[in-house]
Amino acid sequence: MRVILFGPPGVGKGTQAKFIVDEHNIFQISTGDILREAICEKTPLGVEAKAYMNRGELVPDSVMIGIVREVLASSRCAGGFILDGFPRTVPQAQTLDGILREIGIKLDAVIDLQADENEIVRRLSGRLTCRKCGAILTNGDLSRAPGGACPKCGGELYQRDDDRPEVVRNRLAVYQQSTAPVRDHYAAQGLLKSVDGLGSIEVVRERISSILRGLPVDGRK
Ligand code: AMP
Repeated sequence: MRVILFGPPGVGKGTQAKFIVDEHNIFQISTGDILREAICEKTPLGVEAKAYMNRGELVPDSVMIGIVREVLASSRCAGGFILDGFPRTVPQAQTLDGILREIGIKLDAVIDLQADENEIVRRLSGRLTCRKCGAILTNGDLSRAPGGACPKCGGELYQRDDDRPEVVRNRLAVYQQSTAPVRDHYAAQGLLKSVDGLGSIEVVRERISSILRGLPVDGRK
């Protein structure tokens, strides 16, 4: 299975991608996670990306395309993958088409998770991430995090720098301007499957699962 999980920041892409990975045993390519790891390790990529990310801006296409090209060509993706957070611009989507053609594989679907802006701001402002296992906790989960420790692994919970309210507003503006047009790119290819991202994590998970279960197996290469 080769799918893209698309949608605005805070709609639940990271949370849902982890379920899909577990269910279908495929590799998750989260460009945001790759960048945050690079920042943590202070690699040249991390140093370059940090300033863009802290302002809520996009990291340049040339950088992002290089990262994704390398991961897609690696053996980790041979059994399938889910792209989470890429592509985020039309040039990224066009270049991805070319990379996939070169490798000789086709996408099965682009899941377009949708939620309105008020809900997104509410979710992001209350979101905490675990430094150790990457678990994402929203407002409702925090009651299950005694002492501010991750309920899954006990790791330290922190607020991402780019989840601060002023940065969130910029991320949403960037989404509307640069990322939303990517939807039309995939709609034109007949790949777009829109999913209501409002509701409990379990309910949204089932909506996505039922779409993935319904994909035509013989359409895959
Ligand atoms: P995310 O974790 O997907 O919300 O991404 C966090 C931040 O990483 C974004 O706000 C961007 O600054 C950067 N980023 C992640 N993926 C991309 C991408 N495909 N293109 C450009 N910037 C990206």
